[in-house]
Amino acid sequence: MKYDVVIGLEIHAELNTNTKAFCGCANVFGSPPNTNCCPVCLALPGALPMLSRAAVEKTIAAGLAMDCQINELAIFERKHYFYPDLSKAYQISQLVRPICTGGGITLKNGKHIRLNRIHLEEDAGKLLHNAVNQTSMVDCNRGGVPLNELVTEPDISSAAEAVEFLEEIRSRLIFANVAECRMEQGGMRCDVSISLKPAGSKTLGNRAEIKNLNSFKMVARAIEFEIKRQTEVLNSGGKVALETRRFDEGSGKTISMRSKEQEVDYRYFPDPDIYAVKITKSDIAKVRDNMPVLAYQLKEQFVTKFGLPEYDADVLTRSKNVAMFYLDCLNHLGEPKKVSNWIMVDLLKIMNDKSTETIPVSSAYLAEIIKMVEDKKITKAVGLQLLDMVIEKPQPPSALAQKMGLLVTITDAQILDILNALKKENPRVAEDFKSNKERVLRFIVGHVMKHTQGKAKSENVERLIYKTFE
Ligand SMILES: [Zn+2]
Repeated sequence: MKYDVVIGLEIHAELNTNTKAFCGCANVFGSPPNTNCCPVCLALPGALPMLSRAAVEKTIAAGLAMDCQINELAIFERKHYFYPDLSKAYQISQLVRPICTGGGITLKNGKHIRLNRIHLEEDAGKLLHNAVNQTSMVDCNRGGVPLNELVTEPDISSAAEAVEFLEEIRSRLIFANVAECRMEQGGMRCDVSISLKPAGSKTLGNRAEIKNLNSFKMVARAIEFEIKRQTEVLNSGGKVALETRRFDEGSGKTISMRSKEQEVDYRYFPDPDIYAVKITKSDIAKVRDNMPVLAYQLKEQFVTKFGLPEYDADVLTRSKNVAMFYLDCLNHLGEPKKVSNWIMVDLLKIMNDKSTETIPVSSAYLAEIIKMVEDKKITKAVGLQLLDMVIEKPQPPSALAQKMGLLVTITDAQILDILNALKKENPRVAEDFKSNKERVLRFIVGHVMKHTQGKAKSENVERLIYKTFE
């Protein structure tokens, strides 16, 4: 039997604010346990939360980046549950009136994936389990870090669509300076809910929810596995259980965690400690005016303004680092396509070999190297050698080339030798030159360049041609 696959995503992204959502504690990753905490985020009795304006503004920016509607009134609610990493026994979140509703993203195949909402909430702390001495410890540093939760409508129908959607969401959050989305640090996590229904049917099947996937590869593998598992259940006449599952990376399987039938009631109610937030048109305009250019907008600019091929524009805008670096290089040098070639082919390869996303050289130095190659002061091979050396130890490339004797130097005497030899071998060239200067000049320049591997300076060559042949 043929089935339609119905997938919805819930994506959590930690905002890159300086402080936590409801207190002044630092929002940084990797500090020693329990060093970024205060009475508010530890939920000590009597402590009162204070909403961060930056967290609200970044949520508005996320909404604008995804074409959401920004609501005039936002309300914060308490979502109650007990877990050792949640000192308050409730999470401050949003249910009835989130900051953003609607919006969505159109995939390359033209399909529009709708968002239901983006809301602002706080992250929980973290449990550190030690299997050796059988202890669990709690680190509250992450407790209270602002999160955006993006919830889609069930519009996705394959692992490939889910991954493309997530990549685009990630790109927009990063370019809009809302979140860093460092997946390896848990800065972006995803829950997938997935069900199957007979092809064409309008009735949704029971769904399984797979929690806490922290790489796109895991999302794709979990979806592929679930499609297979649910197809087998349905084909054998069974019923898919409504449940929460987790993905086991080792086996590539999803495993049941708990049945949804006994799902807890979170007893949401408006948090009496936090005022409702009024978001005015001018608040939204302020965020919109400061909104950085997003990847898809830059890509379009690279094609129309700089005449780059679609492929180049795509590669250069895949990471914000690289796109901004490209623009910096253009500021130094111009030459959009030449700079693009150096970055796409040479620099990205070096970064790939080093497995780093950090650009290892300054835009000024790379532009200087490209210019030397374009001016034929050095060969491309020497340019690449210089690039390696400058990455190893940052220093001005032209001074380095000079010091190491890497500059191409073709003397006037060498050019004259070539010209005189040509004149002797082929006396007609001199006669032709007198009658048809422009065409023959081009021919002779080409001849000299061929004999010097392009290392001669063309203005020197022209000057000497007139001297020899006129
Ligand atoms: Zn705090």
